[in-house]
Amino acid sequence: MRLSQTFIKTLREAPKDETAKNGALLTRAGYIHKEMAGVYDYLPLGLRVINNLENIIRDELNKLGCEEVLMSALQNAEIWEKTGRFSDQEVDIWFKTELSGGGILGLAPTHEEPMVNMMRKYVTSYKDLPFSVYQFQNKFRNELRAKSGILRGREFLMKDLYSFHTQEEDLDKFYTKVEEAYARIFERVGLGDSTYKTFASGGIFSKFSHEYQTLLPVGEDTVYYNADKSLVLNKEVFEDEVLKEFGADRADFTEDTGAEVGNIFKLKFKYSEPLGLKFVDEDNKQQTVYMGCYGIGVSRLMGVIAEKYADEKGLVWPEMVAPFKYYLVGIGEAGLKRAEELYTGHEDEILFDDRDLRVGEKFADAELMGIPYRVVISDKTLGAGSAEVTERLTGETSLVKIEKLFN
Ligand code: ATP
Ligand code: MG
Repeated sequence: MRLSQTFIKTLREAPKDETAKNGALLTRAGYIHKEMAGVYDYLPLGLRVINNLENIIRDELNKLGCEEVLMSALQNAEIWEKTGRFSDQEVDIWFKTELSGGGILGLAPTHEEPMVNMMRKYVTSYKDLPFSVYQFQNKFRNELRAKSGILRGREFLMKDLYSFHTQEEDLDKFYTKVEEAYARIFERVGLGDSTYKTFASGGIFSKFSHEYQTLLPVGEDTVYYNADKSLVLNKEVFEDEVLKEFGADRADFTEDTGAEVGNIFKLKFKYSEPLGLKFVDEDNKQQTVYMGCYGIGVSRLMGVIAEKYADEKGLVWPEMVAPFKYYLVGIGEAGLKRAEELYTGHEDEILFDDRDLRVGEKFADAELMGIPYRVVISDKTLGAGSAEVTERLTGETSLVKIEKLFN
């Protein structure tokens, strides 16, 4: 991508209506544009980060044999009435809208009901099970507070995965596989050291559900961990009764704040029962399908990474999620010419700053945008057949032979 040709512009100052660090930095660096509180557009750089996150998640889920779909945001009230979740008393964050011919629709805040309802058309026998289905889809939630940038949106991108089984043991096995996949996902996006599987309430099947919490000063959740962080509990389950179950002592725990980047539930029959998702077993008996569901907040994840790695100069993307690996600057006539040549054929990994700007301004943007490696080619470096490569994370600079670049 050539910076001379893009419409995006970086901003020197933080926007006045943005109090969250992630929102301010991502806006200044040209990754997102705010439509209104809790509603954001993803610009070319921001979309590349989202796509990278999606691809890492997709890769790990496809390895488990999960199938990708894309379901509608518009929802039929009737389906949700079967579980009682269309009621504003039950679910207080609905966006609802009217059909022109009369009748009310909702904008999906999640997809358990339509997913289960859809599967009634495809599941009849034990031979159809097990399987698992996921999507990357925009959810709509009329959140009371939306002041955390992309950490809490009224429209946000979620990965939601649902699994369908004939038996409890099969659900258990799959659940464990998802746990392993989630550990790899958070590792690959650069949050392996700071993200913990925590015990949370709301388990239908077992007593607990699990959340994935990234320790973060601005995280909205309170978590408690023991000395080696081998046991992390959410606030709502941090009680004497639960601690006793784990053989743990309240005094050994430290309180901290976290951002929930994902969660996993053994749903058992919670949705398959009321919506009538059944199968016929080997003995020709009707049984209810066992289910699990597994979420990751993809746009929140981007915000968490932005917050976590930022420094006073701007964003700092881990290589695996960065929109581009290199930020290329040519200085002087020969440097510019050589940079042009090197850019050709590597357009997908190089953000080429070919703008007619002072070098200082280019360097400031390279830092603000958080591209992992800044590559500078000047008459001076060319004299040594090299380019000067600076790592964004450490600030370390080294000379790299031109033929070793971009391979
Ligand atoms: P929270 O407690 O933060 O409101 P939740 O329990 O409502 O989250 P789920 O309904 O389980 O979340 O959604 C799955 C994932 O989607 C969450 O783990 C989180 O990462 C993300 N998520 C939930 N609400 C939002 C939101 N308003 N904006 C961005 N991401 C969200
Ligand atoms: Mg919520």
